[in-house]
Amino acid sequence: MMEGGYTKYDKFHIWDFVSEQKAKGLVKHMGFSFHAGPKLLDQLLRAHPEVDFVQLQINYADWENPSVAARANYEVAREHGKSIVVMEPVKGGNLANPPAAVKKLFDEYHPDMSYASWAIRFVASLDGIITVLSGMSDTAQMEDNLSYMKKFQPLNGEEQKIIQQAQRILGNSSTIPCTACHYCTEGCPKHIPIPEIFSAMNKQLGNGQMAEAVSDYQKATISCGLASECIGCKQCERVCPQHLKIVDGLKQCAAALEKQGYR
Ligand code: SF4
Ligand code: SF4
Repeated sequence: MMEGGYTKYDKFHIWDFVSEQKAKGLVKHMGFSFHAGPKLLDQLLRAHPEVDFVQLQINYADWENPSVAARANYEVAREHGKSIVVMEPVKGGNLANPPAAVKKLFDEYHPDMSYASWAIRFVASLDGIITVLSGMSDTAQMEDNLSYMKKFQPLNGEEQKIIQQAQRILGNSSTIPCTACHYCTEGCPKHIPIPEIFSAMNKQLGNGQMAEAVSDYQKATISCGLASECIGCKQCERVCPQHLKIVDGLKQCAAALEKQGYR
């Protein structure tokens, strides 16, 4: 569900359709994924008390981010008594490689625990969470995930304070908050690998790793469009659930990462 699109669900009787399937026993739990603000979520949950759960984007970095409204949406869902499925707990992988100051905080308390574990445990510690869509992409990540989720321990008071410190650091971070969902890339007429470019740029913005950023940028664009080839059509910005200013971001990346004579 996004602003502008949710009326189609009424128009095509999707709510009724799913309720009918539920009555037949073909659907066990009815819910929806949501990418807008708390006002619309409240409106939808008032209109559709039959919904069992909502799927929300929640991570510690976006807890107070006004364009994601993680905390506000979480609170609305809980006020309506809904269970929550969490998406983007690691913010598209960004929180598996947070800025150096955040890594230092985490390492001092848990030298052996992954940075992703802090992100996943933060959301799994909230009341009402039924599933965390952890987005693991290889066996090592899955094993890491299982190591702390099999016998799950919620964050303790000290860990909560460390997360708050990390949130304050990230509030001052200039990294590009792309979650690598790839919604933007399919319709790009210049085939620009937008999330990979932003991920490369974040290595410089978050950790000061310019050489790695340039190397990642070169790998990402070797057979695709360059950031500087963006024509500003804004197709990507219209579909970005994070409401990012992608065109401006690509200009920033082109200025920082494109070497003269490259390609
Ligand atoms: S604005 Fe640039 S990046 Fe976005 S779809 Fe158009 S060409 Fe691609
Ligand atoms: S749609 Fe937005 S958040 Fe998703 S990959 Fe593209 S820029 Fe990143």
